[in-house]
Amino acid sequence: MPGDLFIFNSLTRKKEKFEPHNPPFVGMYVCGPTVYSDIHLGNVRTFLAFDVVYRYLTYLGYKVRYVRNITDVGHLESDADEGEDKIGKKAKLMNLEPMEVVQKFTNDFHNVLQKFNFLPPNIEPSATGHIIEQIEWVKRLISKGMAYEVNGSVYFEVNNYNKKNHYGVLSGRVVDELMESGRKLDRQEEKKEAIDFALWKKASEGHLMQWNSPWGMGFPGWHLECSVMSTKYLGDRFDIHGGGMDLKFPHHECEIAQSVSVTGKTPAKYWIHTNMLTVNGQKMSKSLGNSFLPEELFQGSHQLLDQPYSPMTVRFFMLQSHYSSTLDFSNVALKAAIKGYKKLINGLRIIQEMQYETPDVGSPVNEELVIQIRKNIDSCHEAMNDNFNTALTIGHLFTLLKRINALHNGVLPFSEVGAETFKKLKETYINFIVNVLGLKEEKPENISQFLLSLIELYKDAKFNRQYEKVDKIRASLKASGIVLKDMKTGIDWAYEE
Ligand code: AMP
Ligand code: ZN
Repeated sequence: MPGDLFIFNSLTRKKEKFEPHNPPFVGMYVCGPTVYSDIHLGNVRTFLAFDVVYRYLTYLGYKVRYVRNITDVGHLESDADEGEDKIGKKAKLMNLEPMEVVQKFTNDFHNVLQKFNFLPPNIEPSATGHIIEQIEWVKRLISKGMAYEVNGSVYFEVNNYNKKNHYGVLSGRVVDELMESGRKLDRQEEKKEAIDFALWKKASEGHLMQWNSPWGMGFPGWHLECSVMSTKYLGDRFDIHGGGMDLKFPHHECEIAQSVSVTGKTPAKYWIHTNMLTVNGQKMSKSLGNSFLPEELFQGSHQLLDQPYSPMTVRFFMLQSHYSSTLDFSNVALKAAIKGYKKLINGLRIIQEMQYETPDVGSPVNEELVIQIRKNIDSCHEAMNDNFNTALTIGHLFTLLKRINALHNGVLPFSEVGAETFKKLKETYINFIVNVLGLKEEKPENISQFLLSLIELYKDAKFNRQYEKVDKIRASLKASGIVLKDMKTGIDWAYEE
């Protein structure tokens, strides 16, 4: 039995037992990308964490509705509701329609995630597809006295909200302090307080993306879309809301304020925030100029990279750390990940083919060994149940791998493991690698034909004692990352670890 799942909830700052509102259904909302540029490896890390959450919940038998939005309007260059719209700015720069920019980078996002073997969400709504609903929310916020209009823009009045509610509940920010520091700035804004945030912005001269509204031509503020779309598809109160920890404030804090004002409820029960991928200790980010693209990684074409790294190597590298810790990019760690990933995948190839060999009558099961293997299987579940600890899970899978290799090499007789434990071992290893961690075999192109022919040549050469030829074949396969093994049962191959 997998046991209870515990999740660290950023809202309560505690690890809590996962109890969805309406089991077996689970509603999960993850803030998606702003599609104005290629996604970098830091973004991949955050989306990977939620891919694993989605996969594990599904593995546990939950029926998950996973919603991940596309931000295609309203994300301005500065969090203080100033600057140009990121997409509008890019459209001008590239001389494209804003929707061309959106399509281009949405396609890129999907392609990259597919390479990393991500499962698609169940709904991928976009902000521009929900303008009507967003206008409705702005009207409701005004009618509840939480928002005010000024010069064709509408702002959320944080101080007013905070009289009866707690703005800062998620991020721990203190309204009085925020207002104080906001007042010290020499601002030329129309908002009552710097802390107020835009729900609707009046379109200035030359602004490309704009819609009609009761307040004139304009566009929605960034935080609004997520409240509107999560509620629309998951209800007033759903189970999990996630994103990178840099979204805690102001984005998620503002989402909570909007939703509480409109529905009277904190939208999600569990809030999950991922930690950052860093480069030399600094957050990987486009604006800091230390980011690189997944494609540069696959090609090894960035100055920070010693060599190319495959998508599954990178996936494995990221899974080796817990999502709540920072992860520093390093060539050394990635090179080690190549070996680790191949070890696990060689095990997968072996166990997928392996069938239980019924022992001779009277061969006893090794009870002590069975207990150890069972414990090890339980540990895989316990590690994932402990706030999705993929790093620890991988450690336990390596212990299971030792048993698999021992069975394969004939060092460990099947009789000692017994049919039932073997079945569990096989199921667990395959399920955790393929379904939970989402790792898959990366085959060199045309591997099967190429290998089969060479293995035939190798066998002939061996039979005819042509040892020079034998060595040559071995060497050429090795150059492609494949090693041949002479087993009692015949010739076997594996990825070089
Ligand atoms: P953005 O498109 O910039 O809104 O980012 C999309 C997601 O990637 C958000 O959840 C961010 O928190 C996350 N993110 C951005 N930079 C990093 C990073 N260096 N490491 C991990 N996640 C990141
Ligand atoms: Zn969001």
